[in-house]
Amino acid sequence: MHYLSKEQEQEMKTWMDEAARVAKQATCTRARCGSVIVSDGQVIGSGFNSPPGDDEGQRRCVVPKDTYDKKVTDKTCCVHAEQRAVMSALRNRPDRVAGSIMYFIRLDGEGNVRASSSLHKPYCTICSKMVLDAGIAQFVLMQEEGLCSYETGEYNKISFSYANS
Ligand SMILES: [Zn+2]
Ligand SMILES: [Zn+2]
Repeated sequence: MHYLSKEQEQEMKTWMDEAARVAKQATCTRARCGSVIVSDGQVIGSGFNSPPGDDEGQRRCVVPKDTYDKKVTDKTCCVHAEQRAVMSALRNRPDRVAGSIMYFIRLDGEGNVRASSSLHKPYCTICSKMVLDAGIAQFVLMQEEGLCSYETGEYNKISFSYANS
């Protein structure tokens, strides 16, 4: 994992702004997130979180997570922004997914970035596995110290070793 230089950060900020723009379409009531996947300076996939198929009948945002059996390993309510971005990139540009970069942002309650609620420690193993398996090379997200880039193999390992402390 490495934090980015000011120059790299400036370039990547463009894509984070794009991810934030996508996040504004999110309808999940727990968190509004956006992702874009970039290959050779071009967005090849994007996604925001909302119920599966955008079907209101599938909305689970208000269901408490402790009501599910432990066999239900994914207790999150909506389809994640990263999952949507991977699916769209594989549909749009399957030839360009390998080696691409995933940008992820979570908006605060007012729809802004860079507030503390936008900071993100990796823990979603569904997305970390999917991003790695798709062949995406880097995962960029916002942390206290600034924009942060992970190699996706490392991102998967740290997601599995997440500890709430
Ligand atoms: Zn939700
Ligand atoms: Zn996820």
